[in-house]
Order: sequence, then structure tokens, then C-alpha cells
Amino acid sequence: MTDANAFERTSTVPAPDFDAIVIGAGFAGLYALHKLRDQMGLRVQVFEAGDGVGGTWYWNQYPGARCDIESLHYSYSFSAELQQDWEWSEKYASQPEILRYLNHVADRFELRKDIAFETRVTSAVWDEEGTRWQVGTQDGGTVTAQYLISGAGNLSVPKKPEFDGIDDFAGDVYLTGKWPHEGVDFTGKNVAIIGTGSSGIQAITEIAKEAKHLTVFQRTPNYASPLGNEPLNPDRVREVKANYPQVREDSRNTRGGIPYPDPLPSALAVTPEERRRVFDECWSEGGFRFFLGTFGDILVDKAANDTIAEYVREQIRQRVSDPTVAAKLTPTDYPYGTKRPPYETSYYETFNRDNVTLVDVADAPIVSVTETGVRTTEAEYDFDVIILATGFDAMTGPLLEMGIVGRDGQTLADKWADGPHTYLGLSVHGFPNLFLITGPQSPSVLYNMPLAIEDHVDFVADAIETLKHGGLDTIEPTADAETGWVAHANEIAQHTLLPETDSWWMGANIPGKPRVCLVYLGGADVYRGICADVVAKDYEGFTLSAERERASAQVG
Ligand code: NAP
Repeated sequence: MTDANAFERTSTVPAPDFDAIVIGAGFAGLYALHKLRDQMGLRVQVFEAGDGVGGTWYWNQYPGARCDIESLHYSYSFSAELQQDWEWSEKYASQPEILRYLNHVADRFELRKDIAFETRVTSAVWDEEGTRWQVGTQDGGTVTAQYLISGAGNLSVPKKPEFDGIDDFAGDVYLTGKWPHEGVDFTGKNVAIIGTGSSGIQAITEIAKEAKHLTVFQRTPNYASPLGNEPLNPDRVREVKANYPQVREDSRNTRGGIPYPDPLPSALAVTPEERRRVFDECWSEGGFRFFLGTFGDILVDKAANDTIAEYVREQIRQRVSDPTVAAKLTPTDYPYGTKRPPYETSYYETFNRDNVTLVDVADAPIVSVTETGVRTTEAEYDFDVIILATGFDAMTGPLLEMGIVGRDGQTLADKWADGPHTYLGLSVHGFPNLFLITGPQSPSVLYNMPLAIEDHVDFVADAIETLKHGGLDTIEPTADAETGWVAHANEIAQHTLLPETDSWWMGANIPGKPRVCLVYLGGADVYRGICADVVAKDYEGFTLSAERERASAQVG
């Protein structure tokens, strides 16, 4: 690492140590490194907290972890050869297979040599005079770069345990979001799991098969629907691979980045029979089709939503043998799809097993963890192991953890005290040359992630190229553009049913976190059109300037 204080000692403005620093070596960081280094010839340094690549797929190694977007779609599109060569084994890839894929990508494109592993970024400060980012790492090092690109992920900071006494528990505590890579043997163990979101639902189904007894602590039941996983059909693989460019193009022109047929306009405009036919078809197809592919008004019209919510409730009741348990597992007090829907394989049947108990902690909350187990307001339970599947400080958490400080010493934490303020979910006024890959107020988690990431990285690459060609060195959104974007993103959210439900999409899972919709809900296709328009209008809403040139001239 080179000396960051070179500027002070030399009376001229030296070049920064790197053109770009990229944070994280998951899907985003790996592609950003490849794009900027190999296609643009930039000097790039990646910092990664883990000791391997993979991001989310590196940390979340809990039993049952699996992607719920089809593997043929949930993969990079930037290399025609890569997408032809790589063979997925299942319709929905398991965590180990995705991690193998990302390791393959890192090897294939020789990415590791520019990634500093086990190096967590702890500060990133905009140096006004040097017009560069000074990036500090956990090991005490500091390096500078003209551009700072966060690929730190949206779901990478697990929510801190909220239970008093957790440190006194004599057994083992595991977080799904930071699972031990050597695995955990549950044989003969009395296991508790807290949380029934996507992670909990996947883990419960698998751990129940191994543990002596599994007790599930559920605060809010979920509307889970079948994943429909199966071995990949070779004919389908051939068909997709023969048409990959078109498949990707079609994906990018949908709301969610998966090439499903458009939903019908309204659940209320068809007969009950037709509605059921559509629900049955999407339900049996599995995965996100049920969320994205039925009717266009389920997230905006409560009466339309009631029809799909009731359909799911009916399915749950049919699959769970004990009506009391079925009732506890059935959501009744929030609309379908206003929490991120989980996808399951035999989740509901798991509660028919003799070694699984459901404890509803909505009315009798967990009071504390004791030396021997869990205490609720009603009872005490003993365990060997407690698993926290309690979610993440999503979207803003990873960015606010990094100590980012922009112009005039303003911290990102101060700027975002009442929720994120971004332009396009990608850039922040007062924080020049900072790019947030799939940042808050972009489609991010509601757009097939690898494609969302590629789009953002490509946008960043084009912006850097534009600066270079113009002899410019900083890009920053205007305050007005940012205000306009935040208002636009919030206005769209207000037209949906999402704001009323407590979800991590709304920041409502973290006590004290501002309640703001963290995801752009206008759809990936619409969002891409907006970004293209911004570029076509010479980066409308951004200020592009030659600050380093100017500083250099003044110093010289
Ligand atoms: P999550 O959806 O936020 O679920 C957290 C669970 O923990 C909820 O059931 C929550 O209950 C419960 N919980 C939190 N604090 C609690 C407390 N103090 N007492 C009792 N219960 C508590 O988190 P997640 O399951 O890790 O999933 C997060 C996101 O990651 C998903 O929505 C998805 O986007 C992504 N993910 C994707 C996959 C996949 O691709 N298959 C798999 C896993 C995760 P409440 O609802 O009452 O707050």
C-alpha cells in the first residue's frame, strides 16, 4: 500500500494509488473488477472482509441455503463463453453450487490477485484537496482512489441479536447470515431457531431432518409458496443456451429481471374460476412466478391482494395436519407480498413431523435467552443450540457501517439520518465519485441481482469513460436531482400496499431505523429506461467536473 499523505509532502496533486477501490468480492465486486480492470485498463483494488469470494453466498452457508431465482437466469450475462460453459445442475442452484460458480469466475478471469481478502473497510473519506477517496482498512492501512465503488451487498450485515442474556447461553449460537463454513452437526441435538423469513424457512426444513428436536420460534407467519426445484432439464438448458442473448434481453425488459410472461392486469377483472386457474398455474410453476406473474394489481389493490392471500392460506391449511398449528402458520394481518415472499420445499409438511414444535411468539414474546435456553413471557425452553434467522440491517446497513465521509466532513450516517437520499439509488450528493452498486432506492433486490449488478457496473464504467474522454475527474449528483429521485421513489412506494407492513424492505425490522421504502418499486425495465435517458441527456442530474485538474493548477 502506498502512502496516502503523499499530497501533503509534495506540493502537487499526485495521482491516487488506484483508479478505483471496490468494496466486496461478491457478484458485484467480481464483475466490477473485471469490467474496470480488464475492459477499461484501470488500476483497481478490491477489499473483501471474508477469506474467499462469494459475498452473500460465502457468508450464508446454512443448511438449505439456495437461490430462489432460476440458475439459468441468476448468473452473469457479461461473458457469452462463461454462460455457455457453466453447467448448473438444478433449476434453482444451491449455495455450494453458486459459491463454486463464483470461485470459477474469480479463477477464470484471474481476479484474486487484485482482491485483498480478510480486509474490512472501516473508513472512506473524501479528500477535497486531493479529489480522491482515502480508504482505511481494519489492518490500519490507508489507500487512495479516484473512484469508490461499493459492492458491499444489500443483505450482508446480520441484525444484531436482540435477546438479553444471549452471551450467557451455555450451548452454541449460530446466525444464518454468518454460518460456520465447517458446518454444524445437529444429530441428537435439541435445537431452537428464531425467525421464519426466507433463511429460517430454508434452514428449518433441512435441520428438522437431522436434529433430535427442532423448536421454531415464529413471530410473524409468512406467505411461503413452492420453489419447484428439480434437476435441470437438458432440453431446457439447450434451448436457453441457444438463445441466451435474447433471454437476457427479455429478462432486462421485465419488472423483476426474470423473463416470465406479463401478469394479467387485474385479479378483480376475471371470474373466480379464471383467477384460480392463474393462481394454480403460477403456484405449480414455482418460485417468483407466483409473486410476479399472476395479476398486476396484487401489490396495489387490497381487494385484489385478498384473493391471492386467501389462496395461499388455503394451501397452508391443506398441508398442515394439525389445525391449531396450521392456524398459527397462516398469515392473516398483512397483505401477501408486502414482506419479501419466501419459497419453500416441504416447509409446511415439516410441521407435521413429531420432532418439530412451533412456538408462536407474537403474543408471548421472547423475554431473554438464559444459560439453558429461551424464556418467553409464557414458558421456558431448554436447548443445546440456538439459531438466529432474524434477518439483516438491509440495504443501508452495509453502507453505514463503512464510515463514509463526503464533502465538508459530512458523514453518510448524518446525511441518511432520516433514511437514504440517493440519485438513482447509485450516487449521493456530497459524495463525489462514490457509486453504490444496487444501492437503496434502486430496484436492487426486486431485480434479478446479477443483472441488476451488471447494469449498475456498466453505468459506472460508462460514466468513468465519459469523464476520461472529457478530461474530467469527478461526477456527483445535484441536490435537486437527488431530491427529485427520493420523492419519485417514495411516491411510487406510497401507491403500493408495502408501506403499511413491517418488513425489511421498509426498514421496519430494525428498531429505530427510519421507516422508508428502501427499494425502487417502479420495475427494473422502467428504471433501466430512466438510467438510459439520464446518460442520453449527458448525465442529466449529475455534475461532471475537473476538480483535480483545477486543484493541480492551483497547487502548481
Ligand atoms: P427476514 O426475512 O428479515 O426474516 C427474519 C425473521 O426473524 C422474521 O421471521 C422475523 O419476524 C424474525 N425476527 C426478527 N427479530 C425477531 C425477534 N426479536 N423476535 C422474534 N422473531 C424475530 O430475514 P431472512 O430470512 O434472513 O431473509 C432476508 C432476505 O434475504 C430475504 O427476504 C431474501 O431477500 C434474502 N434471502 C433470499 C434467499 C433465497 O434466495 N432463497 C434465502 C434467504 C434469504 P418478523 O417478521 O415478525 O419481524
